[in-house]
Amino acid sequence: MQTFRRHLRERGLPATQQREAVAAAVFYAGRHVSVGDIEQALHAEGDHVGKATIYRTLELLRSAGLIQEHDFGEGFKRYEPLAARGYHEHLICLRCGRVEEFTNERFQRMSALIADEHGFRHDHHRWEIYGVCPECQRRDPAARRPRTPQREGRSGD
Ligand SMILES: [Zn+2]
Ligand SMILES: [Zn+2]
Repeated sequence: MQTFRRHLRERGLPATQQREAVAAAVFYAGRHVSVGDIEQALHAEGDHVGKATIYRTLELLRSAGLIQEHDFGEGFKRYEPLAARGYHEHLICLRCGRVEEFTNERFQRMSALIADEHGFRHDHHRWEIYGVCPECQRRDPAARRPRTPQREGRSGD
C-alpha cells in the first residue's frame, strides 16, 4: 500500500479512499479476482465504487508493478497481487473458471532453455494449463480425465 501511495504521489494523484479500497481488495483477496469480484467485495464493505474507478485504479496498480493482469480467455480479466506471491503458474478449469496455482522447477528451467535456444535472454514466462478441475470431473463423470498413457517403459514411480 505504501508503494501504491508513492506511485500515486509521483503522478500527482491523490490517494483517495476509493483507490485505496480497490487496492486493498486485490492485495488481500488471496485469489485471482475479476472486476466483478472486486465490485462485490467493496459493496459488501459498504464502499460504493464505480466500475470506471475500479478499472482506472487497476491500471494504476498494474503500471506500478504491484499487480499482475491475467486473461484466461473467460471474456474478462483477473488480477492478483505480485508482491510476496513469488513465482507460480496457473491451472484454469474450463467448466467453473476455478484457478489453481502451482510451481515447477522444471518448467522454470525449461523456459530459460527454450529462450536460450532461440537466442533470447529469458526475462519471464507464463504457463497456463486449461482443463477440467477435480470437482467438475466428480460432478460430470463424462469429463473425467483418461488415464495418462505415459507410464509404459518406466520403472518405479
Ligand atoms: Zn471446475
Ligand atoms: Zn496466480
